[in-house]
Amino acid sequence: MKKSISTFLKHPTKDNTNRSANPPVTRASTILFNSMQEMYQHEKKIKQHKKVSHYTYGRYGSTTTIELENILKELEQAYHVFLTGTGFGGIALALMALCRPGDEILVSDNVYGPTKEISKELMKQFNINAKFYNPVSFKDLKEKITKKTKLILVENPGSNTFEFQDLSKITSLAKRKKIYTLLDNTWGTPLYLKPLKIGFDLSFCSATKYFSGHSDAMGGSLAVNKKVYDKIMFFYKLSGYRMSADEAYLIIRGLRTLDTRLKQHSVNTKIVINFLKKQKKIKEILYPYKPSSKNYKLWKKYYSGATGLLSIVIKSKKKSSVLNFVNSLELFGIGYSWGGFESLAILQEIKSIKKDEYLHGRHFNRFNNDEFIVRLHIGLEDPKDLINDLRKGLKKIK
Ligand SMILES: *Cc1c(COP(=O)(O)O)cnc(C)c1O
Repeated sequence: MKKSISTFLKHPTKDNTNRSANPPVTRASTILFNSMQEMYQHEKKIKQHKKVSHYTYGRYGSTTTIELENILKELEQAYHVFLTGTGFGGIALALMALCRPGDEILVSDNVYGPTKEISKELMKQFNINAKFYNPVSFKDLKEKITKKTKLILVENPGSNTFEFQDLSKITSLAKRKKIYTLLDNTWGTPLYLKPLKIGFDLSFCSATKYFSGHSDAMGGSLAVNKKVYDKIMFFYKLSGYRMSADEAYLIIRGLRTLDTRLKQHSVNTKIVINFLKKQKKIKEILYPYKPSSKNYKLWKKYYSGATGLLSIVIKSKKKSSVLNFVNSLELFGIGYSWGGFESLAILQEIKSIKKDEYLHGRHFNRFNNDEFIVRLHIGLEDPKDLINDLRKGLKKIK
């Protein structure tokens, strides 16, 4: 019977032998076999990428992580999904598995800070050069491709400034030039965008965010096509990157309600934006909500929904008053990460790179020194309360 994804997420377990509604948490290093022959055969099956219910050793995962892999494989429409202990492990896995000395990587300038750091600083130590392209200029991306370009790493939208890119243009160009492509799809999740279907070789999601949904677990998911599978598997096995069974369990539990939570995040965000757009102290809202805007059109072209993370641009001569605004919010926690049930706020300093030591800085920065970017995650609270909180807080801005 053909099922919708919402139904699938409630019934992912097909062969659960313990009869509980949820899969057991299988903590295992050693996995036992009835004979050496059975062990050899099983090893062979895994090498041939046949469906298995367990691996041969705990480093590759347990029945609980396989359950999660299978759910995500379906969600992403992927050949395989690799699970890592944190989201960032998934980015590191892709780079370390695919790039070799002498290669170049092309990275969108608006990526998550640590992604910038690993692309630039760690890769440099392996003689892999990172170039950063302007996320709003396909021309810039195109011009920066060289014979050495191995991988294009895109974050869509950039999770601080929310530029949307024309994704299939990137993948078709990369295919012609035989360059791998990776999309950080943490904002949209595979529920709203399936990167592999539009031609990306790798689709990354920080499972810490909406997959887990409860701010109590960390993980990464790297979904891949057949083309890159062997390379990623090689490094995955040797690096020891893996997710624990307990973390996989929590992420499976989060995924049950991914569809329901995202719908509500989306509704709440729209209501809050309707308030924010009338506020004189807010210069701009970085989120695809204005049908006439380029970002909206690009969002609409690819996504079937929008989630709860956005930024507001506040123009102020006084940084301290913007800090007062953030500090005064009662319902928005101050902290990193997002994608949980709760609202969060944080001042994101978007600085231009002048001195190279500012690792997270931008090569392409359209914001002035008196424009402050406050990133908001709109949680599952009653949006009326969130609006009252924001209204009170905005009065602090001078
Ligand atoms: C959080 C985040 C990551 C890294 O995930 P962790 O689970 O925190 O390691 C990568 N990309 C984006 C866009 C993120 O928001």
